[in-house]
Amino acid sequence: MYADIILPVPLNELFTYSVPASLEHLAVPGARVYVPFGKGRRLTGLIIRTHGNKPTQHETKEILSVLDDTCPSVLPQQLKLMEWMSRYYICPPGDVFKAALPSGLRPDSSAKEQLYKPRITVFVRLGQNSSPEFGKTAVKQKELYERFLELSGIKDDFSQTKPVTKRALMEGSKTASSFRALEDNGILETYEVETGRLPQFKGSLIEPAALSEAQQKALDGIHESFKSKNVCLLHGVTSSGKTEVYIHLIREMLAQGKQVLYLVPEIALTTQLTDRLKKVFSKQLGVYHSRFSDMERVEIYKDLLNSTEPKVILSARSGVFLPFRNLGLVIVDEEHDSSFKQQDPAPRYHARSVAVVMAKAANASVLLGTATPAIESYYNAQTGKYRLVEMSERYAGLSLPRIGLVDLKRQYHRKEMFEHFADPLVERINKQLAEGKQIIIFQNRRGYAPYIGCKRCGYVPKCCNCDVSLTYHKRTNTLVCHYCGYTVSAPQSCPNCQGEWRDFGVGTEKIEDEVTGLFPEARVARMDLDTTRNKNSHQRIINAFARHEVDILIGTQMVTKGLHFNDVSLVAVLNADSMMQSPDFRSSERAFQMLEQVAGRAGRTGSQGEVIIQTFQPDNPLYAYLQKHDYKSFYTAQLGERKTFRFPPFYRLVVLTLKHRDYTRLDTAARELSERLRKVFGNRCSDVIIPPIARVQNMHLRTIRLRIEANASFAQAKAILMQHVRYVQTLPNCKGTVIQPDVDPM
Ligand code: ADP
Ligand code: ZN
Repeated sequence: MYADIILPVPLNELFTYSVPASLEHLAVPGARVYVPFGKGRRLTGLIIRTHGNKPTQHETKEILSVLDDTCPSVLPQQLKLMEWMSRYYICPPGDVFKAALPSGLRPDSSAKEQLYKPRITVFVRLGQNSSPEFGKTAVKQKELYERFLELSGIKDDFSQTKPVTKRALMEGSKTASSFRALEDNGILETYEVETGRLPQFKGSLIEPAALSEAQQKALDGIHESFKSKNVCLLHGVTSSGKTEVYIHLIREMLAQGKQVLYLVPEIALTTQLTDRLKKVFSKQLGVYHSRFSDMERVEIYKDLLNSTEPKVILSARSGVFLPFRNLGLVIVDEEHDSSFKQQDPAPRYHARSVAVVMAKAANASVLLGTATPAIESYYNAQTGKYRLVEMSERYAGLSLPRIGLVDLKRQYHRKEMFEHFADPLVERINKQLAEGKQIIIFQNRRGYAPYIGCKRCGYVPKCCNCDVSLTYHKRTNTLVCHYCGYTVSAPQSCPNCQGEWRDFGVGTEKIEDEVTGLFPEARVARMDLDTTRNKNSHQRIINAFARHEVDILIGTQMVTKGLHFNDVSLVAVLNADSMMQSPDFRSSERAFQMLEQVAGRAGRTGSQGEVIIQTFQPDNPLYAYLQKHDYKSFYTAQLGERKTFRFPPFYRLVVLTLKHRDYTRLDTAARELSERLRKVFGNRCSDVIIPPIARVQNMHLRTIRLRIEANASFAQAKAILMQHVRYVQTLPNCKGTVIQPDVDPM
């Protein structure tokens, strides 16, 4: 017998191995196998299929062992999904395999990855010898025995004994030899129990809140829509109470014995949500967390693999790889969020798309929820591919925040600015502080200044690996590349002419300094990538703000996401323009979403919240939509542009990124490929594009964009595309060019 196997190597093929007769009964599709690969290497692979066709091209090697002896680690529907991902996202099956299985389930001979081992706890109980006698010399043994009786409670009441761990018994100075003697004499014995690493929920359960009329209507609408379509878009304004609707829906699913996957953009930011769900679902809730250790992830994986029990799993995008045997529903919360798309490494998948495919195969439903739908999702809802349910009012009759604009041109002209704060904004912040309210200040750049330059000669420090200037971080006095992480300590003065530095632009650190100067009484915290590197740091900052130990929270896009604080009455956006200036076709969409979301943090209880946006272009039509919270008009305008400029949802995109250390080869490869593709695809294929940052980590970069009409065969177009890609890679003067396809790029 032979088996076709996926191996975790970046080659676009399956590998055929022979299966020794003794392993034939275990070698089934989805089983993990350990195989020799190359010189002395051993890898864990995955069986896709078995057959009797001896390969004619080459000798086959034998499988060394099958790692799954009871049931395969990968279910048939997962295998199908992995194949789909590999095909749709044009990536080697090995890359999908690596993404799909926690590394603890994929041992290899390099042993760099830790193999999963269950955690064992050793317990102690009474042995066969029920009437021990201790000689005069056995004082220590007697002491230990008595300590055991005490810890176990046997001494007081035989019917109510407690388990005793060996560790607890031996705590202090008890000697190991006495314990061994007790064991040898059959007085005590040990036994082992597998104990999980997953945190156990302690505390009381609560019933979910009763739904308001609007929420009940939405829930009914969702049920109704699932009767005819398996995807429903829930468009509910910020604070309309979508989460409560999800909770009710999940509860119904669990009651029907089904499993639920609940996807959120970034799980580190969802401690508030996790706490809320734990209280309602207790042990039925699992959290699949990128900050968890691999061991903990393996436990969730195995737990699902071995049961069909009703469960809800809260997870970031990688949850789509979990082995659900009994999936009833996938919720994609904040479905517009770009972190559902994996950028690097491959597979460059979008979890929303994968969720739809996955649910369809399992005959499950998908609920996409958001206040600011992705243009594509809303289009799908408008054209009948999805169903649409709306919640247009905030919970408890609260109003959506009032959005005010401050014209920075005018402010600077009249000199009515204090550093980066316009006078009217300073006034509003002071007023809110006086009323004991909280304020969020949004600035979408971290560090102190995006770059520094010499006052005398104009020299700007650049990264040595990338074509970008280095960001100045004042707290650590360093210059940091935000692309590759390269860090140097900031020189005192210009290395060319000893001139003084001047800083340009503004990041969260500088804002923090300005805020401390402007509002010396206020307690200030900053939340960005730099302040949240430790495991619990997000939680600490969020909790401190939630307990109102902080008055002003400054942050990057992290503060825009799903958080709920009672006392936030004002949200300030210091410079909205930078978000709209990027040449990307999604920049308006992203700016609208981010601003509406961050605005949504204001006024979530009590009186109406207020948002102040500082901008040099107050006439940008986007603000008018935002001020009216008019998503639909914004969508209609966007859709027109998308059509005119041939973007999704009317066209599907593939962006090829070409990389090479050697500039000339890259240039040749890019031109060669673009010319060839233009012969086939005409103006659907772009010229060679030089990206704004044309070198990252010492690799020169070029991109080529292909757009295919939404009603044409995408699969066929991709196949032709890849023929040309592979051909160009074989040309001698293009050798070594890495070409990465990104399907449905974000
Ligand atoms: P969204 O996810 O739509 O932004 P949330 O689900 O976070 O909104 O709800 C906003 C606020 O309203 C939260 O504080 C939540 O606890 C409260 N809330 C929502 N629905 C209910 C309900 N049915 N009963 C009580 N409080 C509710
Ligand atoms: Zn760099």
